[in-house]
Amino acid sequence: MTTHTYPASVDVAIVGSGPTGAAYARILSERAPSLTIAMFEVGPTVSDPVGAHVKNIADPEARRGAQVASQGPGAAAATVAGPGDVGAGDRKARPGTYLLDDGFRMPGEDGLPAAAFSSNVGGMGAHWTGACPRPGGGERIDFLPDLEELLDEADRLLGVTTDAFDGAPFTALVRERLAAAVDDGREPAARVQRMPLAVHRRDDGRLVWSASDVVLGEITRANPNFALFDETLVTRVLLDGGRAAGVEVRERRTAQAHTVGARVVVVAADGLRTPQVLFASGIRPAALGRMLNDQSQVVFAARLRDAAAQEKSAAGDGALSEQSGVSWVPYTDAEPFHGQIMQLDASPVPLADDDPAAPGSIVGLGLFTAKELQWDDRVDFSDDETDGYGMPAMRIHYTLTDADRATLDRARARIVELAEAIGEPLGDRPFTMPLGSSLHYQGATRMGTSDDGRSVCSPDSEVWAAPGVFVAGNNVIPTATACNPTLTAVALAVRGARRIARDLAG
Ligand code: FAD
Repeated sequence: MTTHTYPASVDVAIVGSGPTGAAYARILSERAPSLTIAMFEVGPTVSDPVGAHVKNIADPEARRGAQVASQGPGAAAATVAGPGDVGAGDRKARPGTYLLDDGFRMPGEDGLPAAAFSSNVGGMGAHWTGACPRPGGGERIDFLPDLEELLDEADRLLGVTTDAFDGAPFTALVRERLAAAVDDGREPAARVQRMPLAVHRRDDGRLVWSASDVVLGEITRANPNFALFDETLVTRVLLDGGRAAGVEVRERRTAQAHTVGARVVVVAADGLRTPQVLFASGIRPAALGRMLNDQSQVVFAARLRDAAAQEKSAAGDGALSEQSGVSWVPYTDAEPFHGQIMQLDASPVPLADDDPAAPGSIVGLGLFTAKELQWDDRVDFSDDETDGYGMPAMRIHYTLTDADRATLDRARARIVELAEAIGEPLGDRPFTMPLGSSLHYQGATRMGTSDDGRSVCSPDSEVWAAPGVFVAGNNVIPTATACNPTLTAVALAVRGARRIARDLAG
């Protein structure tokens, strides 16, 4: 499946091998197996099956090696060591990701100091937590009548389940206590529930985290018309008369350039690098990079009240992992926060040695808030300066509004109430993560209903200014969501892939 013999041309070229690029390859393999598909990924293959989650690598040394290999130009930088390290004032990325060296904050602005990237086969999807909630209320894209069916399809591709942690200790108790504080007056869909997760448990009890390997699936791996080229940078999309005509690539190991013709090009190069590839290709519509939005995040921890007395509700199989027993407090327009509540295997706050916590009784709480959209929040690219890969350097312009700060204040107050509902809060007050920490950069190639200058692509994700060029990723989502966006981004990719299958094979 992985090769470096570049073809002269293919039907579909896909830039990036994260979950959204993989979704295009999967749907095309299912619906139009006669089409030739080439997927190009700047990073190396770090896991087996190709694109698999690094958390599935049992050996800690090997897992650490896979994370470092994913950190591209930031491979030598220090990363966050564990839950207790997140609050450190210095800029550190999470393992498997790397930060921008500069351009992350402009003078007088808030910026996105923690904006991060992964460069490896599988992208950030090889490192993610797998939370796959559905958007609600104002998070939803109201002009897509088929959104619900697309989300169902995204669940299928990502292998989403809700029962992987049913055996973890105290999960029912945590949900019961959260529900008592939250559910009153909410519609059933917006009540406290298990977090849908892209994870399943094997028959032997081991957890398997979904990543691009699961999205690609056996059908793509077995497709003789599909090939993956790792360590291959796409430097630009080629156009002929304004239409997609192929890609120019650079093999990282030899620095050799190649041209691969394509009838359709899908750019799925992450929330900030997808607009970068378009910019480098001279595709620069007015909305490119604009309406950038990330989710602010507040975190807190609590120790489950009366855990010892409740021991009987703790399942006996010790089914904990680094993050487990994940509960979901859905977003509503009235309470515009998305809650991800995880039982941790280690406390983020040091506990006294003679006071060990029962497994699963330390609960990490996170509330994500949606950003107020602003035209001037954006990623710009330079015509002169380049990044570590030689692509146009980024500059992030990003400012919280008064409304954003007010929502954050509400989230900080709410998270304390939720911690107190669960048990005894750990620490004096919640911690507000540096902007960019949520890793959910949306909007920079946003979808719209018409080419009115406010959007980059159509409801099928085809770039208005460049027919035959499709964009994928969180960057396509036009709403400001608070919930984890990957499920929605994969759903939008399904729609685009179906359109390509119809057009090219139809
Ligand atoms: P990516 O997965 O980032 O893949 C893009 C790929 O494109 C990368 O591999 C990159 O190397 C490649 N690329 C970029 N430029 C080029 C180029 N010019 N040429 C060739 N290749 C290129 N999301 C959730 O919804 N739920 C969660 O619980 C969650 N938890 C997370 C936890 C962590 C620790 C991390 C790191 C992320 C988390 N995310 C979560 C975010 C999630 O991983 C991303 O939303 C998702 O991976 C985006 O998919 P993508 O395919 O658009 O981009």
